[in-house]
Amino acid sequence: MVRGVILSVIGSVVFVEALAFAVQPALAQSTKDSGAERGQADRVLSRDQQVALTPDSVLAELLEGNQRFVQDDLTTRNHSARVREAYAGQFPKAVVLSCLDSRIPVEDVFDRGVGDIFVARVAGNFVNEDILGSMEFGCHVAGAKLILVLGHTHCGAVVAAIDDVQLGNITAMLANIRPAVEESGNFAGKKSSANPEYVQAVCRQNIRRAVSQIRKRSTILEAMESKGEIKIVGAYYDLKTGSVSVVED
Ligand SMILES: [Zn+2]
Repeated sequence: MVRGVILSVIGSVVFVEALAFAVQPALAQSTKDSGAERGQADRVLSRDQQVALTPDSVLAELLEGNQRFVQDDLTTRNHSARVREAYAGQFPKAVVLSCLDSRIPVEDVFDRGVGDIFVARVAGNFVNEDILGSMEFGCHVAGAKLILVLGHTHCGAVVAAIDDVQLGNITAMLANIRPAVEESGNFAGKKSSANPEYVQAVCRQNIRRAVSQIRKRSTILEAMESKGEIKIVGAYYDLKTGSVSVVED
């Protein structure tokens, strides 16, 4: 009786898998019909494709994707097909550390889809042990080639750190951003959250600080970068235009 039930369950699984195989060619056909350039857009990255990438090629690809985002020319993707394909494993190109800000839809910002990038988010895009561990997983274990720290203009978390806001758990969170405020002490103008140039200077310093903290606090990632296996890069997102520009160290 029990054996019968087990066989029946196995039979169902085999049937479902057979069905999935039967469905796939139809999906592939519909993808092909909708444009040749969509072929790869509907496929998730394979291990071989990931290995063939370089840190510079990944950065260039993300910046090109950002141009499409800015021009409202995002690639149309079959998300359902990608979800099904990605179930077998993930081989993303990059780890992006973004602020929490809802106006930065990270995958869209770089015109990426399911399985393309790891995204870590925290208000003020700073690093801590958990974020560093996630980055080490993304690069050392899962093979991503680039770490991109993505700060942005008019960051509310940076403004709150400048104003030294004290509120619940926000106080402890802002302590991670305060060092960037201290490091911006040589700013020539008025050091106030009401001064947009000062806020911009601290936002950019906060990005540079996250990049340097990754190298300083992760021997694994620092070694990978020294060997040219990955790059750790800062970038600045403009809330007004949607464009991303690289922040030099
Ligand atoms: Zn922010």
